[in-house]
Formats: sequence, C-alpha cells, structure tokens
Amino acid sequence: MIEIKLNAKLYYCTIKYCAFFVIVKIAYLEGASKKYKSGDTEVVALYPTDFSVSTGELVLIIGPSGSGKTTLLSLLGCVIYPTQGHVNLNNTYTEKLVDNDLAHLRLNSIGFVFQSFNLIAPLNVLDNVMLPLMLQKVNSKIAAQRAHEALKLLDMEHRVSSLPKMLSGGEQQRVAIARALVTNAPLILCDEPTASLDSKSATVVMEHLKDLAKKGKAVVVVSHDQRLRPYANRIVEVADGKIINETSESNSV
Ligand code: ADP
Ligand code: MG
Repeated sequence: MIEIKLNAKLYYCTIKYCAFFVIVKIAYLEGASKKYKSGDTEVVALYPTDFSVSTGELVLIIGPSGSGKTTLLSLLGCVIYPTQGHVNLNNTYTEKLVDNDLAHLRLNSIGFVFQSFNLIAPLNVLDNVMLPLMLQKVNSKIAAQRAHEALKLLDMEHRVSSLPKMLSGGEQQRVAIARALVTNAPLILCDEPTASLDSKSATVVMEHLKDLAKKGKAVVVVSHDQRLRPYANRIVEVADGKIINETSESNSV
C-alpha cells in the first residue's frame, strides 16, 4: 500500500496505529446552497458554502438547532440537491449523473446515519444491516456474516431478530450506525449520532467513529453537543446557514 504523509498529525497517526492509507479529498461542496420555498416565503437553509472532507479525519459540524447542519450534511451525502453550486463525491460532480448512477455512487461511497435512524420497520435488525449489502448484490451468506460483525462492533448482535419498534432509541441508533459501517464505505456521515444515547454509549460510539477515521475513513459528525469537540480533528461551526468558524484541533483523542 502507498503511504502519503501530508502533515505531522497524520504522520503520527500512521506510526501510532500502523494504518497506511492514501489521504484523499473524498467529498466537497463548491459554493453549494439550499433554499426552500413554501408559498411566498423562502427559507435559506444554507448560503453558498465551500466545504471538504478527506480520508483519515473526523470533522465535527457544530451549531445550534436550525443553523443548517443537516442541510450541509445532506448536500454532502447527496440526499438533497443544491439550489446553486456543486457537490463532488469520490471525484465525480454529482449533477452530471443520472439518478441510477448517483444511487450507485452513494451506495458505494457513503454510510449515512440519519438523525431519525430511517430503519425499515418490517425488517428485523439483521435484515436492516444487510440491506445495503443486498443492494450491492453481495452473496447473502457473506452479507449476513458482515452484518453480524458490524452489529457486534456496536454491541447489538444479541438483537439480530428484533424489529426496530422493539428497540430503544439508543439501540436503534446503534443499528443505524452498524448499517452505515457494513459496506466499508470511505465516507461516513452521521447526523446527531449521539442524540439518543446515554453518555457511556455516546463515548463508545464516538471512540468507534474516531477509530474509523484513524484507520483511513472520512467521518463527518453533525451535532449541537459541545462534548463531542475532543474527538474532532477539525471543527466547523455553523450559524444562520453559514460556516462562521473553522478550527483544526491538535489535541483530539
Ligand atoms: P439543523 O440541522 O442545524 O437543525 P437544518 O439544516 O435542518 O438545521 O435546517 C436549516 C433551516 O432550514 C431551518 O430553518 C429549517 O427550518 C429549514 N429547513 C430545513 N429543511 C427544510 C425543508 N424541507 N423545508 C423547509 N425548510 C427547511
Ligand atoms: Mg439537524
């Protein structure tokens, strides 16, 4: 494997964790904005914004409720289209793609943990986590094995047969995270991943996300929770639909 050392911090990571990976700008927004219209009124959820995330870093997007965090993450994850500007995912400008190709690119590039979990109600925990692999046409035996492994990481393997409605909010959250990890996508996007978790489970989840970044994934976490700051390599503060501050953290855990 090739190793590219772009800064002292990543050099340290590569030595400490023996993780060798190429640092790639995996997704970026170029002047991307989002406006919503309802009747005569227009809401600017996000003003034209530049933002990028690279493999090997955990970026925390932080800001108050209604500031545009979910909008920024949803643009990056190609869940919504920008009103203006461009979204580039895995070296591809997404506006150039037809729906099927975009869905394929998303499936193979992104694990998305939605704020509302978006688990499929009639499917049990195992089938929910296997779903992205089935869409990727992975053999069902291998898919089941990988889903078990992802659930084990999140300490949810004992609930494989449960339906989502039988789980607590925190448990649903952990299943949603397992589903985002199971495809081994290079970019993991998490909208308020600790909102339904007690502080011990939140620590476990954040340490796991941080570990993924150290092993070479690009991880973006959206939250209003200031306690997540120590886990970030970079903190992007959002207010009133704009990025107002950006800092690199040298003391992240
Ligand atoms: P956050 O995640 O920081 O709480 P959002 O990105 O969800 O903020 O929302 C930013 C702003 O855009 C808010 O004022 C919100 O009401 C508005 N907004 C978000 N989604 C929609 C939508 N689908 N239709 C209309 N307004 C929306
Ligand atoms: Mg939100």
